[in-house]
Amino acid sequence: MEKIYDLIIIGAGPAGMTSAIYASRAGLDVIMLEKGAPGGQMLNTYEVENYTGFDKITGPDLSMKMFEHTQKLGVEYAYGNVTGIKEDGSFKIVKTDDEEFVSKAVIISTGTVNRRLGAKGEEKLAGRGISWCAICDGAFFRDKDVVVVGGGNSALEEALYLTGIARKVTIIHRRQGFRAEKVVEDRVKKNEKIVLELDQVIEAFNETDGKLTSVTVKNVKTEKLKEIICDGAFIYIGQDPVSAMFKDIVKLNKQGFIITNDNMETSCKGVYAAGDVCEKELRQIITATSDGAIASQNALKYIESLKA
Ligand code: NAP
Repeated sequence: MEKIYDLIIIGAGPAGMTSAIYASRAGLDVIMLEKGAPGGQMLNTYEVENYTGFDKITGPDLSMKMFEHTQKLGVEYAYGNVTGIKEDGSFKIVKTDDEEFVSKAVIISTGTVNRRLGAKGEEKLAGRGISWCAICDGAFFRDKDVVVVGGGNSALEEALYLTGIARKVTIIHRRQGFRAEKVVEDRVKKNEKIVLELDQVIEAFNETDGKLTSVTVKNVKTEKLKEIICDGAFIYIGQDPVSAMFKDIVKLNKQGFIITNDNMETSCKGVYAAGDVCEKELRQIITATSDGAIASQNALKYIESLKA
């Protein structure tokens, strides 16, 4: 007979790994399913400076510390590209590409994926000069010119990271004001390697022999076009939730984020959500870990209620 877990956690980012730590310490039989490496978006972050207790730690190091914590507690971890959840009486069946896992409760912590601009040349030049991860691909652009698109924390922080590698970093942002924290904006403005192109949007990514060689930008006020020569382009214009496969079991908002209450309960009894995939104001590592703890605590209460 198939093993029945108490809890299946889908996604091993900070929310999922914290859920696993709390669930394991509460004595639940728990498995984490992940289709990539543990860490989620933290793996794409060069430095984290606002996670309590760490004034500076790289995203990959923090990911590894969290993962090691789960492994010290003996949390089961398996590869799995989850394609959906089905209800079977009081049990949940979590389907992956080639397997099914059964549990009493589920926590969805699948996070988000980087958004595409939808500009001309973007799909073709993805991986041929265009990237969504400075920490993964930055090294290809040593002493070269790169552009970074976006005005949030990710764009500005990763632009700063790239100044340690590239010759020049041009930030292209669609308005004058930034969404990033003031401390990061100030650092960007003081950095001599960074050039700001404000009120500009990308019209096209241009190539020579299949490699990115420039971007065409349009000024949103004057409509004037201009070409910026570059070898690399890093796009940081926000994230979309990884939730499409759960749309039949839990309620999503218009943007596809999972709607939860304060207990991280979704519209389906026994299914919880935690971290960036949830509808929320502040998407941070610390809020993801907090969601994970709350979700596990309530999953535990739910599982105990099944015994009564
Ligand atoms: P974000 O904060 O949503 O910023 C996205 C940026 O891209 C905005 O400046 C936005 O412009 C721009 N943008 C969106 N769509 C665009 C389009 N189609 N064309 C051109 N520009 C576009 O996204 P993020 O920087 O990835 O951050 C996501 C979340 O993670 C945020 O909550 C952020 O605070 C958090 N985060 C925190 C840290 C940290 O605390 N250290 C680090 C990284 C991320 P507008 O401003 O004009 O809308």
